[in-house]
Amino acid sequence: MAHHRLIILGTGPAGLTAAIYAARANLEPLVVEGTEPGGQLTTTTEVENFPGFPDGILGPELMDNMRKQAERFGARFMQGWVTEVDLSQRPFRVTIGGGDVHEADALIIATGASAKKLGIPGEAELTGRGVSTCATCDGFFFRGKRVIVVGGGDSAMEEATFLTKFATEVTIVHRRNELRASKVMQERARNNPKISWVMNVTPVSVIGEGNKVKALEVRDNATGEVRQLETDGVFVAIGHTPNTGFLQGQLELNELGYIQTRGVSTATSVEGVFACGDVMDPHYRQAITAAGSGCKAAMDAERFLEGSSSHDWSVSAGSARA
Ligand code: NAP
Repeated sequence: MAHHRLIILGTGPAGLTAAIYAARANLEPLVVEGTEPGGQLTTTTEVENFPGFPDGILGPELMDNMRKQAERFGARFMQGWVTEVDLSQRPFRVTIGGGDVHEADALIIATGASAKKLGIPGEAELTGRGVSTCATCDGFFFRGKRVIVVGGGDSAMEEATFLTKFATEVTIVHRRNELRASKVMQERARNNPKISWVMNVTPVSVIGEGNKVKALEVRDNATGEVRQLETDGVFVAIGHTPNTGFLQGQLELNELGYIQTRGVSTATSVEGVFACGDVMDPHYRQAITAAGSGCKAAMDAERFLEGSSSHDWSVSAGSARA
């Protein structure tokens, strides 16, 4: 069984930043990539708000740069999905792909969050045949077609705006009359002549015809009337669920399933296990906040491995080293 001082699970901005810091601290971390190497940013196009890139940078390019930076300092990467962890004793045990077991003195969990599904009839059956959760990945296939984007948050606005590059008509379908999205994202979508709106309706099923999407069936929340909105594609952009299923109750989670961290730190309910990025942050969920918490996790893990684990995490950030 391979033994490591530190294993990092996840390669989004949080995991890769933790890898850069941990590798520079000579911890030679093993970084497990998971099923979506690079994380959610690899499914986005231009990132305009990551500091240091005045003209923006493509999401996949940003992640590739972070990975190279971590490798330069000695981080080792392996592909594989974590199927099980044993946090009941140290060293912790991490099972990858159902069989390959690795031991670690400290663990950083940066497994992020995954796109939520509507859970309505037709959605699963037609996924990959017109139903998608990633406009960047699948938008190209809808050139000259009509699409629907479900959701009222920033993701829905972003996906809808992006899809107007390909589709002739994009309809945003939302379950309330008010949008959750930020003003700037709303305005961008509202000012786009290709975008139309169907508000205050609940999606009830995705209708297919000959293996393709034909319509989204919705119920009007005011009148109860059910109708079909004809479309070639349905993009579901209704938020995310943290990837914590593999922890099987071994760590304290909050009521939404996100890992609970202590005070200003990334320390979890298990000593020696740290969490960073979207898996512990239901609030900010930005690449830069994830990267920042990845840095904190590596510093917390380093401090723990040095033996100064009796730190009071609940006190102010003044304890951080310069
Ligand atoms: P979100 O803010 O949680 O919005 C989810 C939307 O989906 C809400 O409008 C919600 O409706 C709707 N919804 C949820 N479950 C649904 C269901 N079962 N059926 C129908 N509709 C459903 O998620 P998000 O848009 O993914 O954004 C998450 C975070 O990332 C936010 O902090 C956001 O600011 C950030 N973000 C930023 C950018 C950017 O700045 N470029 C881009 C994307 C995301 P209700 O409103 O009725 O709850």
